[in-house]
Amino acid sequence: MPWERREDNGICYYRSRLLAAFSWLGQAFSTRGPARESTGVGAEKATGIKDRTETAGFFRHYGLPPDRVQMVKQVHGDGVLVVEEPRSGEELPVADAMITNRPGVGLATIHADCVPVVLVDPVRRVIGAVHAGWKGTLAGIVPKTLARMEAEYGSRPADCWAAIGPAIGACCYRVSPERIKLFQEKWPQLDLAGAYQEAVLDLAAINRQFLEDLGVAPGHIDQAGLCTSCQSADFYSFRREQTTGRMLSLIVMK
Ligand SMILES: [Zn+2]
Repeated sequence: MPWERREDNGICYYRSRLLAAFSWLGQAFSTRGPARESTGVGAEKATGIKDRTETAGFFRHYGLPPDRVQMVKQVHGDGVLVVEEPRSGEELPVADAMITNRPGVGLATIHADCVPVVLVDPVRRVIGAVHAGWKGTLAGIVPKTLARMEAEYGSRPADCWAAIGPAIGACCYRVSPERIKLFQEKWPQLDLAGAYQEAVLDLAAINRQFLEDLGVAPGHIDQAGLCTSCQSADFYSFRREQTTGRMLSLIVMK
């Protein structure tokens, strides 16, 4: 199901139509804007992003004061943070994924090409937010986040829903054959045969396959199918622009 592009009160964002069916959930992926000035060089200067007026406006759109949103220092690792009360300040916790069962606590990751994945367990009322670039995808951060939801809250993959947001697509993501080989060696079950000849990676498709392999129903997965590099009017792309802003991926239980 394609995601929908919306504009409310001057804020332009995309959201999963599938997840929009949960009235108790807020979910959105920002377009160029909210994190515009927050980062100059490198992807991980998230500290301070919450103080930016536009970012705060984006969060407020979902009824969230900035101090009710957990962000992390993203390091392209596979760490999963369990959030009870949002922690902010100068030193953000280091992680590339977060989970919580607390209503009113937003989880936000920042992106420019890397795959945003949000997870929802409507049975146990648990949500997760994942930043999955190629390193995190290779490390299995999405399967690890689902496993952590199960360990902490008893979530079962068969109950879970997922939305995979805008990210650099196979159309624009050429990589070295060596990188493809890393994926083949670590995840031999992945169907990368077609990608290998072209030396392209489809990170969103790989993460989708991880979810399905773990038991998330295909009908419970909503993949945006939007390429951040192709769609420059709406998105920043690190590959295309090198130094850019970032988009925000937000999820919250109201
Ligand atoms: Zn593209």
